[in-house]
Amino acid sequence: MNRHGTPFNPYLAALDCPACGQAHDLSAPRSVCEACGKPLVARYDLARVKAEVRREDLGRHGSDLWRYRVVLPFAAGFKAVRLGEGGTPLLPLTRIAAELGVAELWLKDEAANPTQSFKARGLSLAVNGAVAFGKDAIALPSAGNAGSAAAAYAAAAGVRCRITVPEDTPEVFALEQRACGAEVRLVPGTIADAGRALGGWAQAPEWWNVATFKEPFRLEGKKTLGYEIAEQGGWTLPDAILYPVGGGTGLVGMWRAFLELRELGWTDGAMPRLIGVQAEGCAPVVRAFTAGAAAATPWEDARTAALGLRVPSPFADALILRALRESGGTAVAVSEEDLLDGMTELSAHEGCFACPEGGATLAALRRLRASGEIRARERVVIYNTGSGLKYPEAWRMALARRTRPQAEARA
Ligand SMILES: *Cc1c(COP(=O)(O)O)cnc(C)c1O
Ligand SMILES: [Zn+2]
Repeated sequence: MNRHGTPFNPYLAALDCPACGQAHDLSAPRSVCEACGKPLVARYDLARVKAEVRREDLGRHGSDLWRYRVVLPFAAGFKAVRLGEGGTPLLPLTRIAAELGVAELWLKDEAANPTQSFKARGLSLAVNGAVAFGKDAIALPSAGNAGSAAAAYAAAAGVRCRITVPEDTPEVFALEQRACGAEVRLVPGTIADAGRALGGWAQAPEWWNVATFKEPFRLEGKKTLGYEIAEQGGWTLPDAILYPVGGGTGLVGMWRAFLELRELGWTDGAMPRLIGVQAEGCAPVVRAFTAGAAAATPWEDARTAALGLRVPSPFADALILRALRESGGTAVAVSEEDLLDGMTELSAHEGCFACPEGGATLAALRRLRASGEIRARERVVIYNTGSGLKYPEAWRMALARRTRPQAEARA
């Protein structure tokens, strides 16, 4: 709490609806726009932040994502639950850079987060946000990683947690979620079906819905990816960033971060091109981007081993498409074979036991180098969004593709 008794950051001006323009204050719990039902986005008084805070002062709040507390929703005195989220390394991939002919290639390795994925960033903020809004129970559908992160923060915050996950999700996720005290239901189908199943089991207002973009603070947590990439690059932004798009929180969040950083005057030079990566078996954003559409239509029969990308109908489709276009970026769908080979390359050449979504970003980079859309002199960031340890089935498939003669040739 600050001295006015609010848990919220005094620099947080409002929660805006980019779709209809409606602004919301923080006098009540806010989920989506009360006028049109679309996602809300936090707006800060950046002119005041710029006048009162220097980027050299960030370290006083720690080395995790709370370092950027001045542009996060909570007051300095709010006792946030923290598990060490964010502050992950940006690693040079020298061998793959040489092979692909890219001047500088960096990996933002998010496996170092609590519960081993970047979902910790968003769920940390969302669970703290639930507490700030006076809630004591949260719920969400999840492809695995979001549920595990939610369960961990809920345990640490002492709030109840209900999760629905597709029944083909690797068992380790439900084990981890139950270990943290969450109630878990397995549901046939994809995360879209899990979302529908949650409706009857964990209703508002008792259960605060922390699904992607159904409350405003997961986006704020993911925004810190952009701040970290900026700071770790010496406040000069890369030329291109390849990001695996499921619900799109990270992509929209990074774009928010870069816009804020420009307004704060903390970065200079050109803005990066954001490149959205999806799997050919579920590529609603790529299809809409390619068609020049402002919104995505639901993907039928979504299938991919990259479970975080199996989101047939992202709720924030309009915001994702806008970020891709405003940044001058593009959207690419990669095949299952290519994303599995991307996982293997990250491991065999760089020592990173990647998740399938991470493999997808490398596969997309290979494609865009071949087409010339990423040029040799560029500085490029790809993502490993979670640990490969949670995807034994995908790894079995990836390693089965290394035929014996190839393996011997490498040995
Ligand atoms: C959720 C998830 C994604 C997709 O992230 P969004 O920000 O929702 O687009 C990518 N990779 C992994 C490992 C995930 O768990
Ligand atoms: Zn609205």
